[in-house]
Amino acid sequence: MRLTFLGTSGGKPTKNRNCSAIALECKNERGWYLFDCAEGTQRQIIHSHLSALKIKGIFITHTHGDHCYGLPGLLTSMMLDGRSEPLHLFGPKELLPMLESFVDVRLEHLGFELIFEALHGGWHKEFEHFTIKALPLIHSIECYAFYIETKPKRHIDKGKLQAEGLPPGPLYADLKAGKCVVFEGKRFEPQHYVTQEPPQRIIIAGDNAEPAILGDYLHELDLLVHEATYTQEVYDNLTKELLHTTAKNLAQTAARFNIKGLVATHLSPRFNDPSPIKQEIATYFQGEFWVAEDFMQISL
Ligand SMILES: [Zn+2]
Ligand SMILES: [Zn+2]
Repeated sequence: MRLTFLGTSGGKPTKNRNCSAIALECKNERGWYLFDCAEGTQRQIIHSHLSALKIKGIFITHTHGDHCYGLPGLLTSMMLDGRSEPLHLFGPKELLPMLESFVDVRLEHLGFELIFEALHGGWHKEFEHFTIKALPLIHSIECYAFYIETKPKRHIDKGKLQAEGLPPGPLYADLKAGKCVVFEGKRFEPQHYVTQEPPQRIIIAGDNAEPAILGDYLHELDLLVHEATYTQEVYDNLTKELLHTTAKNLAQTAARFNIKGLVATHLSPRFNDPSPIKQEIATYFQGEFWVAEDFMQISL
């Protein structure tokens, strides 16, 4: 899996950062998935290696503008570019009426089918290379994190099989599927020739006041992508309480759940220099972490 951060600012864009959008690509899969789509995301896509026409599905964490105002423009550009493939859109139930107030999403207008599915706690779906679940978060409106788990991949040791007398052919598929096979009187057991890669588990979270709400899903997670809008000092001096996470809280939670990789994103526009966020995370979390920048990539 590879993530490309197309926008890493919270609330409004800055000179160096657009608002929230992340691309997810899976190895050997044609097309990719978009998580959140702030205003200007289509321009970020143009500046990346990705093509908007190859988006297979769009997941929206919540309907605040810095996470979804790019959708009407992106859909309209797809229409102008002659998209015909259906497009899946997943988000809170209020996303569809909001989108319909900007753009006619009927097939007759767009030229492609927009298939909308409303998220809810317990929502899950299977895709070609992964399964995905929606996990409710704590924010001022309905908001979700997405828990993504890759499907187990099996590898077959062709060299060993050939050396032991089983030539390439349909029996390899049977072994890969976990069946015993017999060839010219010799028995081949899958456990000697097939290895299974452990699944990769990542979370891409929307805005959230308390990362620990994700509970057991965080335990030894391969990668957590979560907002760190403020440092603790800035947050403590805000004139009203906002439902966002500080770098300190995120780092302490990552340490508590033994998270393997952490990405802090959705930085408040006041952090022109992200060093204070970086330093605060480094103080409380000894694992591998990144403070996201636009166009940063992480491969798992
Ligand atoms: Zn936001
Ligand atoms: Zn928000």
